[in-house]
Amino acid sequence: MELIAVAVNTPQHSGLGDVLTYRATSAAAPGTLVRVPLGRRETTGIVWARCVAAPPADQLRDVIEAIGALPALPASWLQLVEFAAAYYQRSIGEVALGALPPSLLGLDNRQMERRVARAAKGSARAGHAAPGRGDALAAVRAAVETPAGDPNDPGLAQPPLPELSAEQQAALAALAEAHGRPLLVHGVTGSGKTEIYLRAVARALEAGRQALMLVPEINLTPQLEALVAARFPLRRVVSLHSALGAAERARNWLAVLTGRAEIVLGTRLAVFAPLVRPGLIVVDEEHDPSFKQQEGARYSARDLAVYRGRLEGVPVLLGSATPSLESWQHAQSGRYALISLNERVGGGPMPRLRIVDLRNLPRGGTEREVLVPALREAIAERVGRREQSLLLLNRRGWAPVLHCAACGWKSGCAHCSAWRVFHKSDRTLRCHHCGFTERVPRACPDCGNLDLAAIGRGTERLEEQLRSLLPQARVARIDADTTRRAGALQAQLAEVHAGEVDVLVGTQMIAKGHDFRRVTLVAAVNPDAMLFSADFRSGERLFALLMQAAGRAGREASQAAASEMWLQTGYPDHPLYRALARHDYPGFAMRLLDERRTSGLPPFMHLALLRADAARAADAEAFLQRSAAAAAALSEAAGVTVYPPVPAAMARIADVERMQMLVESASRPALQRFLAAWAPALIEARAATRGLERFAVDVDPLSF
Ligand code: ADP
Ligand code: ZN
Ligand code: ZN
Repeated sequence: MELIAVAVNTPQHSGLGDVLTYRATSAAAPGTLVRVPLGRRETTGIVWARCVAAPPADQLRDVIEAIGALPALPASWLQLVEFAAAYYQRSIGEVALGALPPSLLGLDNRQMERRVARAAKGSARAGHAAPGRGDALAAVRAAVETPAGDPNDPGLAQPPLPELSAEQQAALAALAEAHGRPLLVHGVTGSGKTEIYLRAVARALEAGRQALMLVPEINLTPQLEALVAARFPLRRVVSLHSALGAAERARNWLAVLTGRAEIVLGTRLAVFAPLVRPGLIVVDEEHDPSFKQQEGARYSARDLAVYRGRLEGVPVLLGSATPSLESWQHAQSGRYALISLNERVGGGPMPRLRIVDLRNLPRGGTEREVLVPALREAIAERVGRREQSLLLLNRRGWAPVLHCAACGWKSGCAHCSAWRVFHKSDRTLRCHHCGFTERVPRACPDCGNLDLAAIGRGTERLEEQLRSLLPQARVARIDADTTRRAGALQAQLAEVHAGEVDVLVGTQMIAKGHDFRRVTLVAAVNPDAMLFSADFRSGERLFALLMQAAGRAGREASQAAASEMWLQTGYPDHPLYRALARHDYPGFAMRLLDERRTSGLPPFMHLALLRADAARAADAEAFLQRSAAAAAALSEAAGVTVYPPVPAAMARIADVERMQMLVESASRPALQRFLAAWAPALIEARAATRGLERFAVDVDPLSF
């Protein structure tokens, strides 16, 4: 009989502990999956590398079976999970099992054997490429596989490669010499960052290793897949993200663990890909908030990628046109190596920025027009030339709120501290936070007034206004409402690429990454809303969004000179817009970093949030007060500040009151020591607080 440690999925607040001890007839290697009893059910756990103290014999339970059909997860993977669990204050089992494809979790050994065999056979049949990856890839494979000759000869299928610029070469040299330091590649869109990633991937593959590439959005993976497949037609590329079907996700994951997959593309969850021969980790658009998980284990995939690189001794490449201030500060202090690509490939200029004063909007009928006349003309000219324009408005629906001027009624949500948005297409009032939807009332529900006014403007209304302003133009809209059906976004993007659209209206969805070739004008219709948000990161985000949007224009070098980015603003002299006009990220970042240093904010201060949800705000607050009292008694609280409880920025969602408490320290290790020491007190405070629905610790929070 052997005693083995097994990580099982017990939530942190259950107080059961991270890793439990079981009895087994034979030892199993760490990283092996096992079926074990847990309470009254059976569950899958992972054998953990850890010495275990034997509990009393009458409490010991037996392992049901080891899932030997699955290769053991690598030791470095176990270490990554252990670090993530400790850092983000979650249980090891939750993080570990949460990182496995859900469809593999219930299987016994015989079932797993079949799954592993089927996955291996599936990939043999599909040759080097993974099945089910869409037309772009199929076309590439057909092109590669049709010519006579030996398809295994890499020379035959190798696409011609562009000659690297001096900056790109410097970046690759820096990556080779980074010695454990991540490399931050800062360069505007079109400056050749992706080419650097691809060369770095090629090097890793030549060394017989696997490369992992992370992107922020599921929507961007097909585009990257097509690109990577075209560059490496004979290599097996798989993707990992939450929108994959269960079978495909499991198959791809197995291909990584068995070493068959050589290139792994994915969203944040792919940072836990079970690489067996890691050789490179790339994080594209590293500044993007989507890398931070916003529920459950609230980890930052970007930060874990950096940790993983050091753990595995593997180079890490972070790329962005507007790096996060965290990464930029590391690059200034020398913790990260930095390469800046200062020009677009081919020497084309960045689009010229035209800042126009929103206060000059003419009146059309009863209210202001949506576009200043000069912008309207600039768009009309492009329609005439068959060039495309892209209009960005970060708000969907027709109008963000309805209002009764007679009695002051507004279209609030009964369940949230938010307004319900008027959607004209189906004549509803919809809450974007809880989904509560009703038909729009004919008259004011409070006073019967028939004259309800729509306040403000969303993408739906902008689309409608553009159709009437530019009757000759083909206007389309892309936002979360138009892309709800599976495949709808890809179909809509295809129309844009095919030139069937003259003016595209959309939310930030259209600002990210897409390689539109005919866009020569991008306009932010009303970006000011983000200038004065209470969130201290809103300026950083707005700058990134606008830079990214500008990057959609003039991607075709022949058109770059004529391409423009327009901003309609009530604050034409705001330093953020001025820096944007100079395309001056470093200057902007330096100013923001000074502000953050002076006001004691990240990256100079380290934060954690204790969040509490309850039906009644008083219960959430009572939990936080108990937790604060416990914190005050801890010796680890030295050097750590615990602020009083306050309502979250969205104080109520779906009838749940949300309170939070900020914890900060100038020292990350001090904050970590404090959080670890505080954890048991939180479980006690929870037990003592009736009515508390849940609590969560959010380390390095991105939203408040
Ligand atoms: P980014 O990732 O910074 O947006 P890309 O790497 O996609 O930039 O490069 C933009 C365009 O320039 C792409 O079409 C790419 O193929 C091309 N390109 C990149 N590097 C070179 C180079 N050294 N020589 C010629 N073309 C290049
Ligand atoms: Zn009214
Ligand atoms: Zn709601």
